Amino acid sequence: MNIAQLLVRSAQVFADRPAILQGDRPLYTYAEFEDRVARLAHFLRDGHGLDAGERIAIFMGNRPEYLETLYATLWAGLVAVPINAKLHPREVRFILADAQARLLMTSSEHAADFTDPSEPLAGRCTAITCEGPAYLQALRGQRRKPVHRLPDDVAWLFYTSGTTGRPKGVMLSHRNLLTMTSCYVSDVDTPDERDAMVYAAPISHGAGLYGFACTLKAGRHLIPASGGFDPDELIALSRAPGRLTLFAAPTMVKRLVRRIADSGASPDGFRTIVYGGGPMYLEDIREALDVMGPRFVQIYGQGESPMTITVLPRHILGDRDHADWATMSASVGYAQAQVEVRIADGTGHTLGPGEVGEVLVRGDVVMLGYWRNPGATDEALRDGWLWTGDMGSLDARGFLTLKDRSKDVIISGGSNIYPREVEEVLLRHPAVREVSVVGSPDPEWGEIPVAFVVAEGVEPEALERLCLAEIARFKRPREYRFVAELPKNNYGKVLKTTLRKMLSS
Ligand code: AMP
Repeated sequence: MNIAQLLVRSAQVFADRPAILQGDRPLYTYAEFEDRVARLAHFLRDGHGLDAGERIAIFMGNRPEYLETLYATLWAGLVAVPINAKLHPREVRFILADAQARLLMTSSEHAADFTDPSEPLAGRCTAITCEGPAYLQALRGQRRKPVHRLPDDVAWLFYTSGTTGRPKGVMLSHRNLLTMTSCYVSDVDTPDERDAMVYAAPISHGAGLYGFACTLKAGRHLIPASGGFDPDELIALSRAPGRLTLFAAPTMVKRLVRRIADSGASPDGFRTIVYGGGPMYLEDIREALDVMGPRFVQIYGQGESPMTITVLPRHILGDRDHADWATMSASVGYAQAQVEVRIADGTGHTLGPGEVGEVLVRGDVVMLGYWRNPGATDEALRDGWLWTGDMGSLDARGFLTLKDRSKDVIISGGSNIYPREVEEVLLRHPAVREVSVVGSPDPEWGEIPVAFVVAEGVEPEALERLCLAEIARFKRPREYRFVAELPKNNYGKVLKTTLRKMLSS
């Protein structure tokens, strides 16, 4: 089944319910939303002579057109390639080429980077601006019927940076997305039509993936006027229209909680706050519960098993009197309903309770593989299990505690930064001989990147300029430490654990 059928059903049965809100202003009912999607689907597919399975990239901030473009792409049997709106144009061009995208749906804010005739996009890719005449014309054009899709047809290419520094396209099928949505409504939250799902985090990632659950229940999709995360705006929206549900990275939760505590605002208009994507410290969840009450659910997932590996539900997080509250709340909870989780050693043997090994995941939510990357796919999917790269242990009751990441990904404010990518950029400076980037704990961002550099005669400012010219701003190191040499093991591999220790000494 095509996941866009969730919209078909909601528009048919609940035609007059509000579907899309911008700030507190209702924009479209379900019938109107569906109509726009059906016309855009015709424009995207028939208007451009595309075949089923061709890729449409979406590169814009959170806005109503994002949702209609995403649903229209799926409706038309095409594959959506949502791209993080914070990425550098060079990074976007890499993804467009790798995904062999035929269209880039963007907004006027970003269009100039992709419409310069002297720098055409790879392949036969064309950029379309959602405020432009072609898009507006499409909304008055013909409708098309939703295209039937098989469970294993690709629906969404989720680009995640690889440890090689090159982003990899995680192939998520219609079955993956439907399973994720079904796990959401069974384990994470049970939304109804009165709830408003707020896109305070990027639609290109977790928040957008969770949006399918809102469509399933014919709830309200709420796009903040700011398009992003602003605690004061969220507090105002919690008063009207209220009943907010949002997915937030731990950094965002912290900032929201602090703002509510400082302003004395009521938390009652927030129904559910789902957090995940990075570690949340116990002290922070304790404070969040003190200030806002039992409105929190933690999830653990990764692009390869989207939003869906384990869940720590609100009744456990909220049960402060339970003898094991602290241990349970420091864990990431237990396996979601349609997911199997086990801990294995390097050879794949299952480890017992309390033993630390790699987290392995199996189920219908696990990706099909990496797009055009069989080598990486074979490494991640072995014997029917996804090797997550995360280290952890299960207790006797099935609660998973994450210990460390076997990959060296830095998670800063909920966004992943892959050190190798930053290192490659820094190494382009002629004075830089060696470099290694590690995450340093930070109370505000969770982690921030710090670069250890072996170089002579170079100022941090020059390295900063280089990074800003090549990669997204959030990936640049916040600190440079110049050292005579990098610590290495016998095989010449840099010892990142030693570097991390140097940060704390
Ligand atoms: P991504 O693929 O960008 O969603 O990043 C996924 C990674 O984020 C996982 O492999 C974990 O390392 C980390 N992560 C996700 N959820 C949690 C969580 N609840 N607690 C700690 N780390 C998490």
